[in-house]
Amino acid sequence: MLDSKSLAGIPLRPANAAAPAPVFPWPAPYTSSMFLSFDVDAESAWTGKDPSHAERLVTMSFGGFEARVGTPKLLELLDRLGLRATFFITGWSVEAHPAMAESILRAGHEVGHHGYHHLLPDPHDPFIEEELERGFEVLKRRLGVVPKGYRAPSGEFCEQLRASLVRHGIVYTSSFRDDVRPYRHVLADGEPGTIELPITASYDDWLLGLTNRFSPRPIFPREHVLSIWKDELDETRDWGAMVTTVLHPQCSGRPMRLRLLREFLQYAQSCPDLWIATGEAIAAHFAEHEASPR
Ligand SMILES: [Zn+2]
Repeated sequence: MLDSKSLAGIPLRPANAAAPAPVFPWPAPYTSSMFLSFDVDAESAWTGKDPSHAERLVTMSFGGFEARVGTPKLLELLDRLGLRATFFITGWSVEAHPAMAESILRAGHEVGHHGYHHLLPDPHDPFIEEELERGFEVLKRRLGVVPKGYRAPSGEFCEQLRASLVRHGIVYTSSFRDDVRPYRHVLADGEPGTIELPITASYDDWLLGLTNRFSPRPIFPREHVLSIWKDELDETRDWGAMVTTVLHPQCSGRPMRLRLLREFLQYAQSCPDLWIATGEAIAAHFAEHEASPR
């Protein structure tokens, strides 16, 4: 609500108190990097917005595509290209589609935490802790995974979440939009937070290629998307920085989107300076440099 009291409550300081991202070399021979990551929401992408979608079977089928076709196709593509990626999976998706979740793990990819019901972690939301705990519980019980990485469902964050993730042992997060290099979060009490692997809307395929009654958006053709993806990558390489992909099997697992992604990944692999890696590997590299800066 817009009133003078709420306006007076806006702090007169940057929302993110983290120090500037340190500039450090990427592992030789690389001079830039790409965090290759996917968000596996399945039907929880829809029920997380409105639980009554559970009864809207065509809306749900957008998410169901992920387990039936999208994820297997993406795994096949990554296997053919010899790439390892990080998959942030909601707890609900692991419960509802255990075979899909197991296939991701079996293919050698990293599994990260992405909430349970894909609820947006809004400030003061009563479900923040429950979403985290249920997500950890199911990843451990179903997959034997203790995740190092966390990406916020629907890309929102709050101070409570930032502190809670550290208490739960999360090493890195990947949701903020405020840098092109990894950096270390700072909690409200000044203690160190997680390592952030920042993202950009440029590589969120949902914004470029998925449309639905409840998420109506324009669909961009291959030429437009490749132009965005290549320009963002090439300039980032010139900066010696990193890009992070935020790809969804219900979008990029569709035939024409997969064709486009294949072309982009083949281009990325043709760049000899580009380190394509999981979040775990990039965060470990950051931590190593942080411990003994050169
Ligand atoms: Zn998601």
